[in-house]
Amino acid sequence: MNKKTGIEDYPGMDSMGGRSPAAGPIEWRWENCQKVPAHPYTCGWCGNSTSSGEGYKSTEKLTQLLSVQLHIMFIRICTACKRPSIMEMVRDDHGPRDYGRLSSELCYINGVFPRGSRGKPIRGLPADVKKIYMESGWCLANNAPTAAVMLCRKLLMHISVSKGAEQNKKYIEYVDFLQKKSYIPPDVQEWADRVRNIGNEANHELKPVDRKDAEDIFDFMEMLMKFVYEFPHRMKSGKGT
Ligand SMILES: [Zn+2]
Repeated sequence: MNKKTGIEDYPGMDSMGGRSPAAGPIEWRWENCQKVPAHPYTCGWCGNSTSSGEGYKSTEKLTQLLSVQLHIMFIRICTACKRPSIMEMVRDDHGPRDYGRLSSELCYINGVFPRGSRGKPIRGLPADVKKIYMESGWCLANNAPTAAVMLCRKLLMHISVSKGAEQNKKYIEYVDFLQKKSYIPPDVQEWADRVRNIGNEANHELKPVDRKDAEDIFDFMEMLMKFVYEFPHRMKSGKGT
């Protein structure tokens, strides 16, 4: 938690260190701010889920041979940290001609910038593990799945060492260590093989990692860290029930 702003210190940009333009509790004031149709999103700066109805918008029509698409570019001001995110929404023109309507049935989000880390907060993480986890989540959120998997590989090595494995071992030996010590639950042993194989491909082979594979590996690592760190931490801090 950021003591100055009261905002959870991740999974937004603030957690990455040095990337935020605000070093303290700045009261941002946005001139001529408009009311815009609210739409939910996760703020990439502070990591909060918000549904801002304040900001600016620009609307463009893209006319093709048989269809018309409405592109709406917003700058939305986060209700928590007051920083701006750019959001492009698209609506195919087969709904009512009320361009103010931006319900999710009619519109979809084509992109939001900046994006926060995909990683959800996990309690009890050692500092080095938390940093690599967040970096990997950043890569995944920003369409860099190969980099995300390479970081997951590194993450697994850090987790193993934090639990007593020797340093300077091979990646495979770290996966084996977690299996033998039962940190990987028995019913997901096949996942350990998948982590082993995809991690090796990302590091040694000349082909990019598929996004779905990267998401699966990342989700597996998230589950593993909850077992290894969060649940023991909750029990120790008296919140295990
Ligand atoms: Zn925010």
